[in-house]
Amino acid sequence: MRVTSRRKGWVDYQSGLICDICGKSCIKKDTGPLGDGLIEVAYFGATWGYASRKDGMIWECDLCEDCADKIKEYIASLGGKIQETYYG
Ligand SMILES: [Zn+2]
Repeated sequence: MRVTSRRKGWVDYQSGLICDICGKSCIKKDTGPLGDGLIEVAYFGATWGYASRKDGMIWECDLCEDCADKIKEYIASLGGKIQETYYG
């Protein structure tokens, strides 16, 4: 769940980015020199089109790291997998 500004619809990341499963904040404290919060979030979403049974529907879900791990395990239990790559 993204906390948005009423004025412009922007996501206010300092106020909150909340896991849609457990309700925990997805912002972790940064111990670096800036001391800002770091956003660690997984995003699950879908935009359904004309050929689906959900034409025009959008799904959005934000997940904390712990819940994302659980979803990954669930997908694996169904025989699927999430492709892992590293960036940077
Ligand atoms: Zn969670």
